[in-house]
Amino acid sequence: MSKIEMKTPLVEMDGDEMTRILWQMIKEELLLPFIDLKTEYYDLGLAYRNETNDQVTIDAAEATKKYGVAVKCATITPNKARMSEYDLKEMYKSPNGTIRAILDGTVFRAPIVVKGIEPCVRNWKKPITLARHAYGDVYKNTEMYVDTPGDAYLVFKGEDGSVREEKIQHMAAPGVLQGMHNMDASIRSFARSCFSYGLDTHQDVWFGSKDTISKTYDGRFKEIFQQVFEEEYKEEFNEAGLTYFYSLIDDIVARVMKAEGGFIWACKNYDGDVMSDMVSSAFGSLAMMTSVLVSPHGYYEYEAAHGTVQRHYYKHLAGEETSTNSVATIFAWTGALRKRGELDALPKLCAFAEALEAAAVSTIESGRMTKDLALITSLAEPEVLSSREFILAVKENIRLS
Ligand code: NAP
Ligand code: MG
Repeated sequence: MSKIEMKTPLVEMDGDEMTRILWQMIKEELLLPFIDLKTEYYDLGLAYRNETNDQVTIDAAEATKKYGVAVKCATITPNKARMSEYDLKEMYKSPNGTIRAILDGTVFRAPIVVKGIEPCVRNWKKPITLARHAYGDVYKNTEMYVDTPGDAYLVFKGEDGSVREEKIQHMAAPGVLQGMHNMDASIRSFARSCFSYGLDTHQDVWFGSKDTISKTYDGRFKEIFQQVFEEEYKEEFNEAGLTYFYSLIDDIVARVMKAEGGFIWACKNYDGDVMSDMVSSAFGSLAMMTSVLVSPHGYYEYEAAHGTVQRHYYKHLAGEETSTNSVATIFAWTGALRKRGELDALPKLCAFAEALEAAAVSTIESGRMTKDLALITSLAEPEVLSSREFILAVKENIRLS
């Protein structure tokens, strides 16, 4: 059998621990036998990040700008314990944070829906894609605890010498204060990412905020979304039969619970943080959640939503058999390969991505799965496979026409 050709390489970002083991197995068993795989390899494993003072992460992000599509393995974000475990020179920042700062953009998370892993919400038939704005608000705030009575003000000092002051509250101490911000440019690029991804994946876009209470701040989000939609996307949405729907966040939450799914839910930073955990666990498992960073400049970076599955890795190192779910990592590869196929006009590469996804889904639906899914499946007597057995079972199910 001749292998499927590629034109442009994918930017391949290797990672850490158990997902690094799965990464290798996926390449060996599910990709290399079928595709003439072209990648530009960057080792984002913590040891090599340390060796290069994290330059490799920056290089990988820059390469993504050059080629347009990247696929990333889960990576360790160092904390104190990792400092000694890996003998680190410094506590490097989260690679995802570094990459996002360079590429700009929005993270879209969507569950992989399979029969036998039923959402807790009965009427959810199609995946809900959560788009989280990843800049500002409470994640870049300034806080104060005050223990003496006084007046709190919001003060802005313009570079032109102007000063604006608004009284927040006379405070009978003790109490707490918080200041936060966002930028038009960031909100605009968030809106563009959401509408572009809606067109790309043929889904409606829903957005909610609290503009009745936060008239200026959340009001600005609402205005910018509406303006970007009217000026840049409305026509294409109409042609595609898609809609943009804005409502209060409370109303959106209520509607989401009653909906069928199959749309993009755009959330402000904090709402997205909270709601993505709710949506992913309601759909069944973090190990079945895909994630893609879409930059407004047209760059895509695909990954699994979960981490490096550290506990399983220590078992693996101790020589024990693991049963770690590789589905989200497989879908990171298929997402990137499909996008590469679309950009390079390679229908066979797109078809391979489809076939590999279908193989992963049908393996689970036939009752063969990893332990995490076996614990929650509605299928009777599931067969629990090891990490490698599952990948080999998927390989057997790949049907190329
Ligand atoms: P995690 O790796 O997502 O794992 C948390 C728990 O969820 C696991 O212990 C496991 O439960 C279950 N789980 C997650 N993915 C699974 C899979 N594919 N198959 C089966 N079970 C799965 O999160 P963590 O333990 O909090 O973080 C570990 C490391 O990952 C940290 O160093 C963190 O910095 C990093 N991280 C990276 C990313 C990223 O690169 N995008 C995201 C999050 C975390 P059981 O142990 O009960 O089986
Ligand atoms: Mg969260």
